[in-house]
Amino acid sequence: MSFQIPSKNAKNVPGSANTPAPSRPASPMASGTSTPGGAQGSPKRLAVLTSGGDCSGMNAAVRAVVKMGIARGCEVYVVREGWEGLVRGNGPEHDVKETQVHSGTPSTADPIPNRRRGNFVATYGEGELLKEGEGEQTLKDRYIIRVGWDDVRGFASLGGTLIGTARCAAFREVEGRRTAALNLVKHGIDALVVCGGDGSLTGADRLRDEWPEHLAALKERGDISAEQFETHSHLNIVGLVGSIDNDMAGTDMTIGATTALHRICEAIDSISSTASSHSRAFIVEVMGRNCGWLALMAAIATGADYMFIPERPPTSEDWQSSMCSVLDRHRKEGKRKTIVIIAEGAHDCNLKPISPDEVKDVLTERLGLDTRVTTLGHTQRGGAPAAYDRILATLQGAEAVEAVLEATPDKPSPVIGIQENKIMRQPLMEAVKKTQDVAKAIAEKDFNRALSLRDPEFEDCLHAFRATTRLNETYRVPEAERMRIAIVHTGAPAGGMNAATRTAVRYCLCHGHTPVAIYNGFVGLLNGNVAELSWLRVDQWSTRGGSELGTNRTLPDTDLAGVAAKLAEYKIDGLLIVGGFEGMAALNILEKGRKEHPSLRIPLVHLPATISNNVPITEWSVGSDTSINVLVDATDAIKQSASASRNRVFVVETQGAGCGYIAMLGALASGANIVYTPELGMSLRGLSEDVDFLKKRYRQDAAGKSEGRLVIRSEKASKTYTTEVVTNILTEEGKDLFDARYVSLGHTLQGGVPSPRDRTRAIRLTVKCIDFLERHHKRKLEQLEPEWKDPDVATIVIEGAGIRFAPLAELLAASDFKNRRGKVQWWSPMKNLIDVMAGRRDLEEPAPKL
Ligand code: ADP
Repeated sequence: MSFQIPSKNAKNVPGSANTPAPSRPASPMASGTSTPGGAQGSPKRLAVLTSGGDCSGMNAAVRAVVKMGIARGCEVYVVREGWEGLVRGNGPEHDVKETQVHSGTPSTADPIPNRRRGNFVATYGEGELLKEGEGEQTLKDRYIIRVGWDDVRGFASLGGTLIGTARCAAFREVEGRRTAALNLVKHGIDALVVCGGDGSLTGADRLRDEWPEHLAALKERGDISAEQFETHSHLNIVGLVGSIDNDMAGTDMTIGATTALHRICEAIDSISSTASSHSRAFIVEVMGRNCGWLALMAAIATGADYMFIPERPPTSEDWQSSMCSVLDRHRKEGKRKTIVIIAEGAHDCNLKPISPDEVKDVLTERLGLDTRVTTLGHTQRGGAPAAYDRILATLQGAEAVEAVLEATPDKPSPVIGIQENKIMRQPLMEAVKKTQDVAKAIAEKDFNRALSLRDPEFEDCLHAFRATTRLNETYRVPEAERMRIAIVHTGAPAGGMNAATRTAVRYCLCHGHTPVAIYNGFVGLLNGNVAELSWLRVDQWSTRGGSELGTNRTLPDTDLAGVAAKLAEYKIDGLLIVGGFEGMAALNILEKGRKEHPSLRIPLVHLPATISNNVPITEWSVGSDTSINVLVDATDAIKQSASASRNRVFVVETQGAGCGYIAMLGALASGANIVYTPELGMSLRGLSEDVDFLKKRYRQDAAGKSEGRLVIRSEKASKTYTTEVVTNILTEEGKDLFDARYVSLGHTLQGGVPSPRDRTRAIRLTVKCIDFLERHHKRKLEQLEPEWKDPDVATIVIEGAGIRFAPLAELLAASDFKNRRGKVQWWSPMKNLIDVMAGRRDLEEPAPKL
C-alpha cells in the first residue's frame, strides 16, 4: 500500500502526478472567484463534517478540505457533531442571522472580512469552539459554521476530530434527513464532504438520493422558497473513509488505521517487556468487528505468538488444542513470554465468538501459564496521528474538494480511496456494498471469499505470520533443495532491518534452510564474523531499531576475491542484502564478479532499506516510514515551542543525502510552509520570495498571538544556501515580525523503535525475497538458466500495491548515480499541494484586524 496524487479521474489537482505544476487554475484564492456549480455565479458553499467513530487523521482531512475549498474559491463551512449538527442546525436566532448573511452578496455582506480568518477558533482540550472576537462566548447552539483559512491551523497534528462527531438516531429517519436538507438549503450549501465509516457514508448517500423528494416536501410546506428550490436542486456528496479498522473495500488504507496500529504496537511493545519479566502470557484484544487488519498487522509487527481474526478463524473446531500446541512449542523452544492477539470480532469456524477470557482460561488451565487479559479499547482511537494518516488525509481531503466540485447529478456519489499508490475515486455505494460483502461472507462461513475481498497485502501478511510462528516440520522443502542463506546489512541503519532479519531467519527455518548471519557488513564477512541464527535468538528483533547484525558502507569490491572465498567457505547458496543505495551497488559488484568467481553464481536479492527512500523504482523502502514519523514528532514539539514563546520560524534540516523524500513528505505531514529539496534546488530569487511570503503570513496573523512556522530543508538542497545561511537570512529579514532558529534532525531520523509500517513492510518483503532465493536455487539445481525476465539477481520493489523483483539492469538504468537517487521521484508533485496548504498561492493582502 502506498500513495500518489491525484486520482486517475481528477485533472488539475494541485500536486497532481499527471498535471504539471503551472497548469492549476489561476488565482484560486482570489476573492469572489466563481466556482463551477455555485448558485447564480456566487462562490460555491461547501461543508465538511466528521461522523461515526472518530479516528486520528480526521482533523487533517478537515484542514485539507477547508484549505483546498478556500483555494478553489468556495465558501467553506464545518458542521459540528456530524449528522447530529446538520439536523440541529443553528437554532432560530442564528438561523435568521445566517440566512440574512447568505442571502446577501457574499463579498459585501459576508461577516468575514477576508478568507484568512473564519468564524471560530478551536481550542483543543474541551473541544469547545470559540467565536473569535467574542471572547469566551461558546458556539454551543451553532452547528453549521463558516470557517476561514486560519481556523484549521494546527489541525493536522491533533487526534480525534475537533469539529466533533456523534451518532445520530434522527438521521436514520426520513424526517431527520429532511431537517438536515433544510439546514443545508438555509445556508446555501450544496456540496458536502463527509468523513466517516460505512454507516456515515450510507447515510450520506441516502441524503443525496432523497434530495429531490426532501426539497419538494420542504417547498410544499413553505419551509423553502421557490427560488431556493430551484437554486439548490442538487446536493453533491463526497465520502472520505475515516475508520481505524481499515475495513472499507476498494481502498488499501482508511484514514485512522495507521495511527490505531501505532497505538496497538506501542501498547504491545510495552506489554512484552513486563510479560518477559514475569514469564507471563498476555491476551490482547484489539478493535475490528468484521476486519482483522489491526490484529493481523499488530501480530506480525510485534512478533506475537498467536492470533484470532474474523476472516480466518482456526480451521479446527478444537481451536483450543491447536493454539496450545503452537504456544507450548514456543515455550519449549525457550520463550519466556506468550502474546496472543485477538480481534474483537474473533470467532471459531462455526462463528461461535472466542472471547479473551476464554483464551485466558485455556492457557491457564492447559498450559499452566500465568495469563492476563488486556483490552486496548479506546486507546486505539486516540493520540497524535501517525505521519501516514496526516499525509493520506491531506491528499484525500484535497481530492474530495476536486471531486465535489466536479460532481454532476447524473453520476453516483464518489468515495475517495487509495489504490496502488494513487488517490482514487469510486462510487461510494459500490465500496460500501463490497465492504458489507465481507461481513456477509463471514456470516455464511465463506472465509475464503472473505479473505479474497481483502487486498493482497492482507494475505501476504497472514502467510508471513504463520510461517514465522510455526515450528513444525510440515513446510520444509525436500532435503536436496535446502539452502544455507546468508543475510547481510549494508549502508546506514534503517527502522525495520531487524524485522527483516527475524523474518528471514524464521522463514528459512520453517522451510528447512539454514539462516547464516553476516555481522558488520562485508567487512564482517571478510573477517569471518559469521554465525548461524536460531529461532529464539531473533525473537525480540521485530521491535528493535538500528541493525542487530551491524551495518556499514563498505562495499564488496574492497576485496571481491576475499568476499567470494568467504561465501564459498561458508557454503552460502543464496544471499539477502538488506540496505539502501549501497545494497544495490553491492548487488552490482557481486554480479559483475560472477564471471571470475564461481561462488558468486548464487541467487542474490536486495531488499531496499533506507530512511532516505532513494532506491530507484521502489516507491517505499524499509525505514522510510519511521523517518517521517520521527520528523513529524519532532516538528510537533518544535512548533509548540515556537508558538509558546514568540513568532518564530524553525528551519528544520533533514538527512536524505541527494534525495528529497524525507523533506517533501515530512513537509506535507507536518504542515511546513516551505520545503527545500536537492531535486528542486535553491536560488536567491526563490529565497527572496520565501522571505516575502513569510512576512505576509506573519502580518496577517491575529494580533498578540505568537506562531511557529516551519521550513524543512534537505541537507543537500544547496551547497551555498545552507541551513545556517537560510536561518540568518530569515532572522535578518524577519525583523520585528519573526525570528528564526534552526535544528538538524540528523541521525535521529533513523528512529528508535521502527514504525509498525516499516516492520510489516520488511516482513512481507523478506518472505518474498526468501521465496525468490529458493526458486532460483531450485532452477540452478535443475541446471536451468534463469529466464531473462526473471534473473537471479534482483531488487524487490513496491510499485503501488504490487511487489515485484526488478532486474539489476533495470535498477541501474533508473538510477541517478551522481545524486544517489532514482531518476524519477513519484513524490515530487506534492510540492504543489504543500504550497496550497501553506496558503502560498495568491494570499489576500492583510485585512484590517478584527
Ligand atoms: P460509522 O460511520 O463509523 O460506520 P455508524 O454506523 O454509527 O458509524 O454511523 C454513524 C451515523 O451515520 C449514525 O449515527 C447515523 O446518524 C448515520 N447512519 C448510519 N447508517 C445509516 C443509514 N443506513 N441511514 C441513514 N443514516 C445512517
